[in-house]
Amino acid sequence: AEKNISSLIEKLEKQHSLDKKGLIMLLSMENPSELYKAADRVRKKYVGDEVHLRGLIEFSNYCHNTCFYCGLRGPNKAIKRYRMEPEEIIECAKRGVEMELKTIVLQSGEDRYYKITTLCNIVEKIKEMDVAVTLIIGELSKKEYAELKKAGADRYLLRIETTNRELYRKLHPGMSYENRLRCLMDLRELGYEVGTGSLIGLPGQTLEMLADDLLFFKKINADMLGIGPFIPCENTPLEKEKGGDVNLVLKMIALSRLLLPDINIPATTALAVKDKDGYAKGLQCGANVIMPNIGIEEYKRLYKLYPGKVPDDPNEAVNSIENIKKVILSQNRSIGKDKGYRKKVFH
Ligand code: SAM
Ligand code: SF4
Repeated sequence: AEKNISSLIEKLEKQHSLDKKGLIMLLSMENPSELYKAADRVRKKYVGDEVHLRGLIEFSNYCHNTCFYCGLRGPNKAIKRYRMEPEEIIECAKRGVEMELKTIVLQSGEDRYYKITTLCNIVEKIKEMDVAVTLIIGELSKKEYAELKKAGADRYLLRIETTNRELYRKLHPGMSYENRLRCLMDLRELGYEVGTGSLIGLPGQTLEMLADDLLFFKKINADMLGIGPFIPCENTPLEKEKGGDVNLVLKMIALSRLLLPDINIPATTALAVKDKDGYAKGLQCGANVIMPNIGIEEYKRLYKLYPGKVPDDPNEAVNSIENIKKVILSQNRSIGKDKGYRKKVFH
């Protein structure tokens, strides 16, 4: 069996493809160090040692959706809601640019309060600072995505969360898997760099489903993949469930890197919250991006998808830019100097 596993990894490293059965075998490995090493080699070969920083601004925690896992879900009355003013958002972005960040990421719940023209305005202002702009603001119409693209948005991240239709339906009342796919296809057609990804360790999720997720990432040729552990959150329907396993997340990151060698893969905040060495481990298994939070302290603590994101002392925050720079240097990696688009080695 061991020899079998080695030959699967070898094949993946050479051909960047594998069937579902092989992926399931690798996902169930007990000692994945060989897999991690292969992913690290491929990462180094295709995207190099640079780690790209993406400055994250979480500008509103209002959300009309009801995703079972998320603390921002509309029905959660236990959290205080906030919205940043456009001027505040632009100010934050400016500070990020002064910290030499080359990408600004705007993230929020699905909040219809901001008109598309307002969002376009914000994007335009930030683009004047000569940075890339990534949006993570959920499902919109093609027309809305087109307007934001025209305003200058470069990238869009919309996780599929799980490709298993039945599990997707259970966790997302009132939403549809088909619409999520439609969004991803529209974003692709409009010329965005498209990111997706999954939550790892959702109740009822199997290794077979995760193998399907990987095949989906490959099939749509994702430009970015955000993969993190599900962390149970109080005041949500899943608060009593078990969270995702760090090693399973790392296996998913490693396999993603082997399947799609030249894409951008973050070591996610959730991974760093779940494991104090999460960023370092992610960087060792194929990741080449980290997203420091450059938002305003008082709002950061209200953006509570899951517990543990913001400690009482803001200087202790895992996703502060200071901490992240330290981690990167401790791994003998360097900080990306350009906007960090997908390298597109195969195009
Ligand atoms: N509302 C937008 C969306 O859903 O795409 C953007 C914000 S949403 C909070 C960003 C991501 O947070 C989701 O794609 C989801 O995977 C992740 N997330 C939500 N709840 C989580 C939890 N309890 N543990 C880990 N990640 C979570
Ligand atoms: Fe809203 Fe996004 Fe949370 Fe779902 S994951 S409830 S869409 S913020």
